[in-house]
Amino acid sequence: MAGGGEVVTLQAVLAWIDGFAATVAENKDYLTKLDSAIGDADHGINMNRGMRAALERLEASPPDDIGAALKTVGMAMVSKVGGASGPLYGTFFLQLAGPLAGKESVTLEEWAGGIRAAVSGVMARGKAELGDKTMIDALVPAVEALEGAVTEGASIGDGLTRAADAAAQGMEATTPLVARKGRASYLGERSAGHQDPGATSSHLLMRTAADTLAQSGQD
Ligand code: ADP
Ligand code: MG
Repeated sequence: MAGGGEVVTLQAVLAWIDGFAATVAENKDYLTKLDSAIGDADHGINMNRGMRAALERLEASPPDDIGAALKTVGMAMVSKVGGASGPLYGTFFLQLAGPLAGKESVTLEEWAGGIRAAVSGVMARGKAELGDKTMIDALVPAVEALEGAVTEGASIGDGLTRAADAAAQGMEATTPLVARKGRASYLGERSAGHQDPGATSSHLLMRTAADTLAQSGQD
């Protein structure tokens, strides 16, 4: 289906944030188990703490626009999560918020531009490249798929599903890799053979987007 006139609404963005918080809570033990193999067994705990704080803050002061909603999530991640993932996911949401400030609805193209800014921000902050066995390995294929979908004039639902599928492939591809960034890199060769926890949570973020953001409005 062509994407003419479709938009991502503030309501859909709030459903994404709610949905991601719920998915993180459901997968808390799984993410922590993945982190116990190549890290310090706290990734699920970290993400859950951050997203719970995000929901509390959104409830306490409901946002008027998409940028404000995402900024609240970013600030919660930065201030409530001590691990590497707090500042990195915080950067993701804050950089996504930037180009979407003041907007109550955005096109898929505008959304993809925000996701590109978010992924670039995480790469600048963490200095990780594709193949370093981090969340970047899920996020870069996702944003590339999203941009490809925009170029082809795909619908929001189709574009986000392609992004989530690309993130899943990127996540799976982390398993054989030797980590070059973060705690897992301390293990050297022994980090190979385990799926990266951050790439796994980033896939969940993209999958939840496909499940929620496409309940979009019309211009
Ligand atoms: P910590 O490693 O401080 O315990 P978490 O366990 O919450 O933090 O998060 C670990 C995840 O963070 C890793 O699986 C990896 O995906 C991601 N990560 C770590 N360092 C970096 C980095 N420099 N750039 C991108 N992602 C990173
Ligand atoms: Mg950890």
